[in-house]
Amino acid sequence: MARVHPEVYFFGGGIVEGRAGMRDLLGGKGAGLAEMAALKLPVPPGFTISTNVCTYFYQHNHKYPKGLDAGVAKSVTRIEKALGRRFGDKQNPLLVSVRSGARVSMPGMMDTVLNLGLTDETVHGLEAASGNPRFAWDSYRRFCQMYGDVVLKLKPENKQERDPFDELIERKKMQRGVSDDVGLTVDDLKELVAEFRELIRRCAGRDVPQDPQEQLWEAIGAVFGSWNNERAVTYRKLNNIPGEWGTAVTVQSMVFGNLGSDCATGVAFTRNPATGERGIYGEFLPNAQGEDVVAGIRTPLQISVAAGRLWAELGKIEEAERASRFPALEESFPAVYRELLKISQRLEKHFHDMQDLEFTIERGRLFMLQTRTGKRTAEAAVRAAVEMAEERLIDRRVALMRVEPAQLEQLLHPRLDPQAPKEVMARGLAASPGAASGEVVFSADEAVAVHDAGRPVILVRHETSPEDIHGMHAAEGILTARGGTTSHAAVVARGMGKCCVAGCGAVQIDYAQGAMKIGDRVIHRGEYITLDGGTGEVIAGRVPTVPFSPEELDYFRKFMKWADQERTLGVRANADTPADARRAREFGAEGIGLCRTEHMFFAPERIEAMREMILAENHEQRARALEKVVPMQRADFVAILREMAGMPVTIRLLDPPLHEFLPQDDNEIAKLAENMGTDAARLTQIRDRLEEFNPMLGHRGSRLGVSFPEIYRAQARAILEAASELRAQGVKAIPEIMLPLIGERKEFELLAAEIREVAREVASRDSGRLQYHIGTMIEVPRACIEAAEIGAVADFFSFGTNDLTQMTYGLSRDDSSKFLDDYLTRGIYKKDPFQELDTEGVGSLMRIAIERGRKAKKRLTIGICGEHGGDPASVRFCHSLGLDYVSCSPFRLPIARLAAAQAALETRKTRREFKDV
Ligand code: PEP
Ligand code: MG
Repeated sequence: MARVHPEVYFFGGGIVEGRAGMRDLLGGKGAGLAEMAALKLPVPPGFTISTNVCTYFYQHNHKYPKGLDAGVAKSVTRIEKALGRRFGDKQNPLLVSVRSGARVSMPGMMDTVLNLGLTDETVHGLEAASGNPRFAWDSYRRFCQMYGDVVLKLKPENKQERDPFDELIERKKMQRGVSDDVGLTVDDLKELVAEFRELIRRCAGRDVPQDPQEQLWEAIGAVFGSWNNERAVTYRKLNNIPGEWGTAVTVQSMVFGNLGSDCATGVAFTRNPATGERGIYGEFLPNAQGEDVVAGIRTPLQISVAAGRLWAELGKIEEAERASRFPALEESFPAVYRELLKISQRLEKHFHDMQDLEFTIERGRLFMLQTRTGKRTAEAAVRAAVEMAEERLIDRRVALMRVEPAQLEQLLHPRLDPQAPKEVMARGLAASPGAASGEVVFSADEAVAVHDAGRPVILVRHETSPEDIHGMHAAEGILTARGGTTSHAAVVARGMGKCCVAGCGAVQIDYAQGAMKIGDRVIHRGEYITLDGGTGEVIAGRVPTVPFSPEELDYFRKFMKWADQERTLGVRANADTPADARRAREFGAEGIGLCRTEHMFFAPERIEAMREMILAENHEQRARALEKVVPMQRADFVAILREMAGMPVTIRLLDPPLHEFLPQDDNEIAKLAENMGTDAARLTQIRDRLEEFNPMLGHRGSRLGVSFPEIYRAQARAILEAASELRAQGVKAIPEIMLPLIGERKEFELLAAEIREVAREVASRDSGRLQYHIGTMIEVPRACIEAAEIGAVADFFSFGTNDLTQMTYGLSRDDSSKFLDDYLTRGIYKKDPFQELDTEGVGSLMRIAIERGRKAKKRLTIGICGEHGGDPASVRFCHSLGLDYVSCSPFRLPIARLAAAQAALETRKTRREFKDV
């Protein structure tokens, strides 16, 4: 059959014009529905208006392309034919839903209108056709409410205000003395419809249109309009979704989960989205419409008996009570359960990925309303990827591409210290992993304020909605009193990698008082609580956390091993202490790319020795200070080199930005003066002389070595003696001594010569077998330009992209954040260049340095040790530059390892097409 319009794609009744691969045009929802219809799954017929129309709509002052009206009308006729029902019919009316759908899911950000097509006349037709007046009037009141909220924008933007329609429902329930909507009679619902319309007339100055066609076009306009509502715009900004993409609109015939007890509606995942565990997982509500499940109005029931039992166990509900009061779908709708299970397995096989499904049961018949790639926690992403590869659903390389490297950080979130005592006040659903303590607040704005004041915060809400996003971002953790594991709070928190306990019924919140009650206990705004998103526990006060050690998990280890097999880029860690070195090895480091020796002096008991050395006025004073400093360093070097067992260890000689080390308050100065045998006034004078406005461009790095040769000599001695001592014990240790801030060959040659002289002295006692390398940071633009000269004399290069970015941009790395935001908001910079490597400017300098350095020395080892070494996009760039390794903080090692593997896979073009795109 011919297409009715180029931008309208029909599905159902034997016609399927779209496909899964057309997600850019049809949005995730439209593409998924088309594909399911093509698979002959039970999908109610409908059609999707493409995202091109959205673009046109915004470019042409909210007008539609030519012929769209006729195309829509013809498509409605096709639905009518397929179902034998007519839109606006007085006897047996067709009702439709009008839904948004972008190419990537933006949960809850845009609008939807259900039960469209109901009027004062058709509601009687629905009554007669369904034989269920209560259902007909419940649907009509839902339509009037959604029309008022969405099309006429009566839904309050501010979360503190209640939806005016919900208020009318509450009032009606109070008048009738019922606690649940289901308790309202047909007459109550009729009254509600009248009251809703009165409210609409009063607030919007117009009535609900009685022409279904007018309803349809208004709803289509409202859905396109919702692409640019404030929530959607904020969400896009946070998730880097381009504004030009636009949304599609899907108009689909309604099926009803609210026709009676043989009806239901639910959501399901083909694997558990929190843990990745295989098997259908989800929730449903009997006698309800789709929105009720995610809105957290009633506590939903589980799909499988196994999940139901677990749920009951957590809530301390006896099995007999669970089975009678909270039966799983598997028990109450066994045949539908089996069909759903089969469909879910088929869809996962078809799409080669975990799916997120929506379904409705109408009079015992299952209908599929959505399939899309399921959002998942990092834990679930890794586990599902590994298990899908093992099930041969996907191959290993696809599995590696399935996990977003940055997501791995979620796996490294802290857990509660198992040894610490804790007072569990209540238990909710374990909605998103991790553990956090913070001050309780009850609104998103408060969360932002407390966060901005530098204090950790836990956001507590009845349930969250898209208006709360900024608060959820600011919070360490989220606690909700209502809603299930597929509620907004759970889904969004999981995406953000924040810990979340959802649906904790024991929590009673009083927004007005700024307090919540758990049992007899009242917790006020500002008091501390702790959440464990892995168990669902809500705990009194603060509980210490311990870092999560993902290497314990088999599948994580396996996944990282696969990544290591694919990557060609080396991965080292920036580690300054023996403890860091141990963690680095645990996380898979193949060496240390940067040991900042000045960081070894951050500990309070050490900083004084360091300050004495910096503030020394003469050679004797400095020698005395070095006598204290060197043994400490030597011991650390022995421990670090031993820990790394023969792997490369790059130790950078002192590069102390002076402002980090100078004593600031009078007490410290007095104490230091006493130690040094000098007076405080004199010391203050010296300190003031050393004070700089440009600490990062000042007397630091190799300049220190040039002015005070004894410092670098002493450090070199400590390093080389440590290596020599280990060699004597049979431990392999080949330190790489790195000079910071080099910009000139002579500077390097002079300092390297001094180190070699020390090495000769140490080696003379070491029977001459001492091995070491001397290289340099490349962090001054001049070093990049002069790389041929410097490369001729250096053993290795390591890009210090923190300083290189600072100096290339002329942006202070210490205080540019004050105005960097303006550059980002005004679109001058796409990304903060200190976080993601500027591939154009800084990248060009790096290219020059690599080319010239390797021309001078073919096998010159080149790495990067700036913060960019743990940023996935920057790691990919480093791979493309042909660096030997990236070096980053231990916690970011898994990210770097995976990003490097993905970069290798991409360049080898072995990346297979994802079957769901
Ligand atoms: C750098 O500049 O990128 C670097 C790693 O050194 P630091 O951050 O210590 O200046
Ligand atoms: Mg630097």
